[in-house]
Amino acid sequence: MISYQIIEHGKPLQKVLGATPEPKGSEVRVRVTRAGVCHSDLHIWDGYYEIGGGKRLMLADRGIKLPLTMGHENVGEVVALGPDAKNVKAGDVRLVNPWMGCGECKVCRRGEENLCLKSSNLGVFSNGGYSTHLLIRSPRHLFDIGKLTPQEAAPLACSGVTAFSAIKKIDPETLKSEALVIIGAGGVGLMGVTLARKMGAQKIIIVDIDAGKREAGLKAGATAAVDGSAADAVAQIQKAAGGAAWSVIDFVGSSATVKLGVDSIIKGGTVIVVGLFGGDITVPTPYLPMRAMTMRGSYVGSQTDMAELLDLVQRTGMPQVPIRTRPLEDVNDALNDLRAGKIVGRVVLTPAA
Ligand SMILES: [Zn+2]
Ligand SMILES: [Zn+2]
Repeated sequence: MISYQIIEHGKPLQKVLGATPEPKGSEVRVRVTRAGVCHSDLHIWDGYYEIGGGKRLMLADRGIKLPLTMGHENVGEVVALGPDAKNVKAGDVRLVNPWMGCGECKVCRRGEENLCLKSSNLGVFSNGGYSTHLLIRSPRHLFDIGKLTPQEAAPLACSGVTAFSAIKKIDPETLKSEALVIIGAGGVGLMGVTLARKMGAQKIIIVDIDAGKREAGLKAGATAAVDGSAADAVAQIQKAAGGAAWSVIDFVGSSATVKLGVDSIIKGGTVIVVGLFGGDITVPTPYLPMRAMTMRGSYVGSQTDMAELLDLVQRTGMPQVPIRTRPLEDVNDALNDLRAGKIVGRVVLTPAA
């Protein structure tokens, strides 16, 4: 099989020829037909996250080992099964849920495999889909895509479920009756806009520093757009929201954007941080009680979230996020374009078999 791997952090991915893995036990081999390129791949590629004050969280310290094949938004065709693999057969086209836990620890048993303490997340802690083949540990991570096309479905594995899970953390009544502020109109943010509408949000304010991305946010269904770099961005957000906001989802996660979110909410409001841009903020501790504010994080999504998301999309149609396909061998260019901010929506690679 052909894989494009990180051999050294920050250096171009290298094409590597390896033996095609034979599934054992309940393992399943999938021929990858679509592999989405995600912004978090840039951090994995670099090998660190910025955590503010010039400090870095090194991924090697989090257990990420090289060489590594990235790629966590995959759809493929089941081509080989271990003797104990149930509920799938050769020829099935499946979305792979990359957020794989051990299935046994306390967190997994609560149904939050995405937060497993011994994660083997695909393309992060185990080899992912920038490759012609993938070995999946258990068929429970494979989801039927129904009438969706593989390239529509691929981005649901990360940007879709990440946005969906974050929006689910907002009380449904609040989502319907109050404005939702979405910061960041990249691939995940745009997915967030369209999914929030499908989940009942009537008023969505998209915040981005890039005019083209704000435009894409409005096209995706946002009802107002604000330039996050404007000196009066908070006032603009609150004007568009009809007052201070109840809910902010920050798909960027920089010092500036989290602060913007905190400054924009009403007493009792919530800021949900999803983006991994990096940075830090100082929040006066009296704000927490006096403003009764909630700050929380949301990280990808659970197996249940994935199933609910696929059901929602089957019933209500695919999010209108621009998707462009490129051949697998363009992976380095696709990552560089993403870093340069040149991509609106999503790029999905088409590995050759
Ligand atoms: Zn991702
Ligand atoms: Zn676990």
